[in-house]
Formats: sequence, C-alpha cells, structure tokens
Amino acid sequence: MKSEPIILLDMDGVLYDFTGAALAAHGSSETIYHHENAKGVWDIPMLLGISQEEFWRPLDNGAFWDKVPLIAGAQDFVANLRRLAPVYFASVPSRSPECWRSKVAAVYRDFGVPESCDRILLGSAKRLLAAPDRILIDDNDKNVKAHASGGGVSVLFPRPWNKLWASAFYDYNTQGHRACVMTPVDQLYSKTLMHMKLLLPEGE
Ligand SMILES: [Mg+2]
Repeated sequence: MKSEPIILLDMDGVLYDFTGAALAAHGSSETIYHHENAKGVWDIPMLLGISQEEFWRPLDNGAFWDKVPLIAGAQDFVANLRRLAPVYFASVPSRSPECWRSKVAAVYRDFGVPESCDRILLGSAKRLLAAPDRILIDDNDKNVKAHASGGGVSVLFPRPWNKLWASAFYDYNTQGHRACVMTPVDQLYSKTLMHMKLLLPEGE
C-alpha cells in the first residue's frame, strides 16, 4: 500500500532564527557570514573561535530558547505547506530539558492547538524519520543527506550556512557585483513552496 506523503519541517534556521539569537548571545551577528570563508559553514563555534562548550553555555537554558524569534513569514509558509500535505515539526533540541519544553510551547503558540499537538517530533535521531513519501525541509546539509540516503525526499532550505548559501544572498555575485545582502527569508519560503508544489502537485 502506498502511503500518503507527509512533510517533516525543521524548526531552527527554517522557522525560528536560532542562528541570529545564538550569535547575538555571543555579541556577534549574521554579518559574520559576509566573510568569504564563512559562507556555507555550519559550525558557528568555529566561526566565533570558541569551543562547543563555550558556545552552548549561554544557550542551553529555557531563558534563551524562549527568546528565539519566529521568522517573519513562517506562519504563512506553514499554512501553505499544510495545504499540500500534513506537516510534522522535526527538531533536535539541545541537552537542556527546558529547550524541549520551549520548542513545544513555541509550536503551540505559533502554529496552533490542536492541529500541531500530535505533530511534533523532537530528538537527535532525525535520520530515523527517513522513508519514502516523507519530505524533509531542513537547513542542515548533513540532515538532508542522511534523509535522502535513508530513502526519503530532501529539500535543503537555503541559508548562508549551508551548500545553498549563494541563494541566501540577494544578487550575490550577479554580473561581477559582489553584493552581501541576505535574501529576505520570506523569499526563500516562496521558492521552497514552489519546489514543494512540484513535488506534491496533486495536493493543490
Ligand atoms: Mg535547522
């Protein structure tokens, strides 16, 4: 029996601005990705020149996670995806139990109760979710690769810290002009939605 497609939607970097909040907590900002050697680099501690432990120290608590902002346009993006297929939120929390609580509360607050209640998948083993007809939208190169290797369908959400970084900059390197302006995320939502409509045309 062929199963119905579902969408597995990553949270941090796709719906929530974890990177901006984490960089701000370390006195930095996303302009760090304007440097040539930072483009496509996932490892924020490396970019900041600090250890993993130093990086997570101010972040691994409920006060930080409760302040990670929803990205403008994320609610419309999810509403449009829900017209194509059921949407499940798939996210890897930090070690703090407070992060788990905060993520569930954020989904309830931003994406609705009861429609989100049984559709939150938290845990580090995202790869176990890979299966045919499961479409993962994620900003992490490794997650996307593992999902595809496990038989799922992967859609890499373009951000400055992954392989599609060039799409995450507006007019970057167009006609020799080296612009360094980040593409508004709602434009990335529109592009991803068009891609999803090609994958799920019958959902329209
Ligand atoms: Mg992510």
